[in-house]
Amino acid sequence: MKKWTAMLLFGVMLTVAGCSSGSSGAGGGNSGGSGNEPNIGVAIYKFDDTFMTGVRNSITEAAKGKAKVDIVDSQNSQPTQNDKIDLFITKKVDALVVNPVDRTAAGVIIDKAKAADIPVVFLNREPLPEDMKKWDKVYYVGAKAEESGTISGQLLVDYWKANPDADKNKDGVLQYVMLKGEPGHQDAELRTKYSVQALEDAGIKVEKVAEDTGMWDRVKGQEKMAAFLAAHGDKIEAVLANNDDMALGAIEALKASGYFTGDKKMPVVGVDATAPALQALKDGTMLGTVLNDAKNQGKAALGLAAVLAKGEVPNKDNSGYDLTDGKFVWIPYKKITKDNIDDAQ
Ligand code: BGC
Ligand code: CA
Repeated sequence: MKKWTAMLLFGVMLTVAGCSSGSSGAGGGNSGGSGNEPNIGVAIYKFDDTFMTGVRNSITEAAKGKAKVDIVDSQNSQPTQNDKIDLFITKKVDALVVNPVDRTAAGVIIDKAKAADIPVVFLNREPLPEDMKKWDKVYYVGAKAEESGTISGQLLVDYWKANPDADKNKDGVLQYVMLKGEPGHQDAELRTKYSVQALEDAGIKVEKVAEDTGMWDRVKGQEKMAAFLAAHGDKIEAVLANNDDMALGAIEALKASGYFTGDKKMPVVGVDATAPALQALKDGTMLGTVLNDAKNQGKAALGLAAVLAKGEVPNKDNSGYDLTDGKFVWIPYKKITKDNIDDAQ
């Protein structure tokens, strides 16, 4: 027993020594874990998501010198996430950042947080409007899903207009397949709707050959695309995917069917502008994508939470971001092709 106490004490001394040497002369406020940094509990819907991994890294980065963050994996289970949030509340964190598993569960989370007076910043999965109105200390950081849908449709409009041979069967109609994200997710529903809308608004006649959900997942995207090819083959003239991971999966399936060699072409459009997608743009397998700005979404969410943790009301001055209706931070999307890859890096 005594030995353990001694070891513990030694450990504490080491930590203290490490801290003081790291922040000496900096006048506190350094990233050495000073006692007055607020504690922020962050719950991500699942760690195994390419885009959210980018957001997660950005939160960690933005927290340096500002807050102590504890980031947990909800493993794609709402009950698991609820348990993790209960634990954060028991530990009396100063603010919460929540990327809900199921966005309709936000109401329950808000009720709990309100009872404990812990402000909440939701991220990436938008709570329903009635839930956003439940309490004034509820915020949302995300991007306008409609905008990404419109941009991905426009990428295909540009291609269709520049390449007359894109109409493989020469019927004047664009036959497309849709790889949808998780049903019910605002980004899946609205990207699907607005991408097709953008084609129609440009005067292009479209025909949906097939649509299925790839659940934001690369392997599922590949499987669904392989099934589309088996059922419809050459009838398919374009692939719209709600995110890059599914688009990359589709590209794998297309490669396995002999596409991207010789004159077998297929325009494939994604959303996110992840590193592997940018590589696919360079390789010429992906036509275009839409920058979903993980860096700013993470930075804004952490920034708002840090302001709220201090008991202040977020505004442009203390958070660095414009707030719409005092509650929403909207991070813009951007069209990315092989010509402006640098804008996404
Ligand atoms: C991203 C997807 C991601 C999803 C997670 C979307 O905004 O585009 O890649 O899987 O968020 O909620
Ligand atoms: Ca056609």
